[in-house]
Amino acid sequence: MTALKDKLKRLISATGPISVADYMAQCLLDPEHGYYTTREPFGSEGDFITAPEVSQMFGELVGVWLYTAWKESGSPEKPVLAEIGPGRGTLMKDMLRTFARLDPGFAAETRFALVEASDRLKQVQQQTLAEGATGATPEWFARIEDLPAGPLFIVGNELFDALPIRQFVKTASGWRERVVGLNDAGELAFFAGYGAPDDTVLPPDAPVAPEGAIFEWAPAREALMELIAERLKQQGGAGLFIDYGFERSATGDTLQAVKRHAYDDVLASPGEADITSHVDFDALARVAQGHGLTTRLTTQGDFLLGLGLLERAGQLGAGKTAEAQEKIRDAVERLAAPDQMGTLFKVLQLTP
Ligand code: SAH
Repeated sequence: MTALKDKLKRLISATGPISVADYMAQCLLDPEHGYYTTREPFGSEGDFITAPEVSQMFGELVGVWLYTAWKESGSPEKPVLAEIGPGRGTLMKDMLRTFARLDPGFAAETRFALVEASDRLKQVQQQTLAEGATGATPEWFARIEDLPAGPLFIVGNELFDALPIRQFVKTASGWRERVVGLNDAGELAFFAGYGAPDDTVLPPDAPVAPEGAIFEWAPAREALMELIAERLKQQGGAGLFIDYGFERSATGDTLQAVKRHAYDDVLASPGEADITSHVDFDALARVAQGHGLTTRLTTQGDFLLGLGLLERAGQLGAGKTAEAQEKIRDAVERLAAPDQMGTLFKVLQLTP
C-alpha cells in the first residue's frame, strides 16, 4: 500500500467520503506524498511523454504562433511572453531559441515568464533554461496574478488536464456527486454521495443519459480560465492551450491514472500515478467568450500541419543520416497522426 493510500483511508474513515476533486488534489499535490511533489513524471524515464519532449519542432511552431499573434496584434511594446505549467521547461527552451533567430529585436524587448506552482519543477526548469544559453533571462511566478503588466502572449501545454475535476453520477433519484469512500473490505471505492449538481452545469445530453452515467465538471479549470481571459481582455495579447480533450460538453468518465507509460486503476496507487482527465474545451471556450474573447478550436494535427510541421521536418532532416531522418519522421507521426496525438489533442486559441 502507498503511504498516501494509508493516509487517505484514515482520513475517510474518520471524516467520511471525499469528492473526486479532493481525491485528485491530494494525489497530485499532497505536500509529502503527492505525485507532482515527489516524482519526475516527464520523459522516457518518467510516466508519460508530452509533445515538447517528443520533438523540438513542437516548441518551434508554438513559438511561431505566439510571435505571429504578437505581430497581428500590432507588435505592441513591452510584451510579456509566458508559459503556464512548464514541466521540465523544454517548450520554453525551444521557443527562446526560435525567437532569437526569428527576430532578435522582439527577443530583446520581451519579458519571458514561467508560471509554475511547484517549487521542485521550477528548479528543474531553471536548469533546463540555464543550459539553453538562449541569451534571455526568464522570470518565474507562482500565479497568473503575479505576472508583470503588459500585453500577454501565453501558452499552456497539458496544464488543464492536471487540474482537479468533480464528477457526478446519475442515480435512480437524479444526479449525485461521485465520492471516494471505503467499501466493506475497507478499500477505497467510488460511491454516489448526497450532493446534487446545479442544473446549469449539466451538459445537453444529461436528461437522456442512462443510470450510472458520469458527468465531469471542473470549477478549478474554469476559475483559472477566468483569470487568463480577464487579463487578455484588460491588457491585450493572445492565448494558446493544448491538451487532450473533447470539443462538445457531454457525459462520460475520463478520469485516468497513468504509471510508467501504462494506464493504472485510478484508486490503486494514490501519489504514485499521474491522475488527469480529458478537458472539456467547450466549457473553457464558453468562459473565454463570456469575457468577450474570440475562441478557435482545432486539433493538434491540423494546428501543427497548418504552421508548417512538414516543411520544418524536411528542413531539419536535410543532410542528416537516415537514422536521424527516421527519428524526425517518427516525431511528426506522433505529434500529428490521427491515431496518435493528432486528433485526441486539441488546441484552443484565444484572442481579444
Ligand atoms: N507543459 C509541460 C508539463 C505538463 S504537466 C509539458 O508539456 O511537458 C503540468 C504542469 O503544470 C506541471 O509543471 C505542474 O506543476 C503545473 N501546474 C499545475 N497546476 C498549476 C497551476 N495552477 N499554475 C501553474 N502551474 C501549474
